[in-house]
Amino acid sequence: MPEMDTEERRIQIAELLLRLRQVGITDQKVLSAIEAVPRDVFVEAETRGEAYAERALPIDCGQTISAPVVVGMMTAALDLEPEDRVLEVGTGSGYQAAVLAKLCSRVYTIDRFRTLVGTAESRFKTLRLDNISTLVGDGMEGWAEHAPFDKIIITAAGDAVPEVLFEQLRTNGILVAPIGPPEGIQELKRYVRTEAGIDESTLADVRFVPLIRGVAERL
Ligand code: SAH
Repeated sequence: MPEMDTEERRIQIAELLLRLRQVGITDQKVLSAIEAVPRDVFVEAETRGEAYAERALPIDCGQTISAPVVVGMMTAALDLEPEDRVLEVGTGSGYQAAVLAKLCSRVYTIDRFRTLVGTAESRFKTLRLDNISTLVGDGMEGWAEHAPFDKIIITAAGDAVPEVLFEQLRTNGILVAPIGPPEGIQELKRYVRTEAGIDESTLADVRFVPLIRGVAERL
């Protein structure tokens, strides 16, 4: 796996931080977390040169790593606190989980593909990210053993947030998810679970791979 040159990486990350600021992501903690995670480590060797480009890139199992600005927006929307425990549905490359891990106490991340979870785990190990727990499973069922979570992030698109995920979110917790049809324009939604119910707001139009029930048969 040819690594990206350190100097090249430094330049690419500096440009990425500039882009994030331009779209209004100015939270210094979020920017520092993104600065600290080498995105090139999370993409396939064939696309390594484009690792920092402003687009989603293909990864194994027909999935994608989200575009950098989308990762920035979703991370910022979670208003992470250092003591937060966060559930991620959709490990994919592991990049989003790595960014979250820099900002909270523990990330619990689930993917339905064993291959993706295995590759992500080895990346976490290489980068010495030891506050990420992984699971091969159906994230639409959440991770009851570790609930309630302070924050939940879903990185695949569905018609609605599975009710059980709101149940696994603590009161005043935040959930961020792309909602909409598989092939169409989806909306990035931010939900806050209040005493009274769920408050909802829309952040942006996005495109994600679909949220699919069950563990993948082709692992
Ligand atoms: N957050 C990832 C991008 C994820 S792409 C990153 O930073 O790279 C969406 C991922 O969601 C895919 O890997 C897909 O396998 C996974 N996924 C879809 N439905 C799922 C489900 N029900 N449970 C767990 N993972 C799911």
